[in-house]
Amino acid sequence: KAKAEPLLAVTAARKTFGGLVAVNDVSFQVKRGEIVALIGPNGAGKSTTFNLITGVLPITAGDVVFAGRPIGGERPQAIAGLGIARSFQHVKLLPEMSVLDNVALGAHLRGQAGVMRGLFRLDRAEETRLIGEAARQIARVGLADHMHKPAGSLALGQQRIVEIARALCLDPDLLLLDEPAAGLRHLEKAALSELLRHLRSQGVSVLLVEHDMGFVMNLTDHIVVLDFGTKIAEGPPAAIKQNPAVLAAYLGA
Ligand code: ADP
Ligand code: MG
Repeated sequence: KAKAEPLLAVTAARKTFGGLVAVNDVSFQVKRGEIVALIGPNGAGKSTTFNLITGVLPITAGDVVFAGRPIGGERPQAIAGLGIARSFQHVKLLPEMSVLDNVALGAHLRGQAGVMRGLFRLDRAEETRLIGEAARQIARVGLADHMHKPAGSLALGQQRIVEIARALCLDPDLLLLDEPAAGLRHLEKAALSELLRHLRSQGVSVLLVEHDMGFVMNLTDHIVVLDFGTKIAEGPPAAIKQNPAVLAAYLGA
């Protein structure tokens, strides 16, 4: 595909819940090899936008195009299969289980109806393939030495990276992360930034929602700012930092 074509194009995306306009005709793009942040105060519509992109919520109006293909109205599993992976918020790591098994199981369950269906359908060849892929992704994120430890024994920052390894098992072109830096220590945030830059260098694009402005400003190529469902600004970090509308939204002015 042509480099000029955006990897993800969200065009006039709209989502209403009854009378509430949660996402109000929002447009933005993620180019190949870019790290883009979606920021804004609580209730701005960031998570809803993620849910529109991943097909978790049906879009009220507008388009989402991924790699040139319209994906509005596709099911989450189909969208994941096309190359958009999301870090799990609901499927948490099982603390007693090894890092390797957590990544393999999470990869297997991706987009599926539930744990039981997943486990009963797992045949031997598929299990071998999943374990191999999980090991490859764990090594890719730099946690090979921790593969056989219980996930719960790792520091929070490492657990967050295990969740990213799980998302990487589908070999996505676009990684969606909802507040990846939340609760992390300074050095853990730095390690996470370094990993995301490393993935970017390998051609993985990233769209993240994040409250930590220091993290966002140091890492991202482009920032999209939402407030009350509406895009109020977008641009490179240096411009967003000084944008009066953004400052007003954050200060509640
Ligand atoms: P953010 O992630 O930026 O904090 P959300 O996307 O979660 O914001 O929410 C945007 C708005 O939509 C909020 O007013 C929220 O209360 C509302 N909202 C989100 N999900 C639902 C839902 N499933 N049903 C009704 N209202 C919702
Ligand atoms: Mg949210």
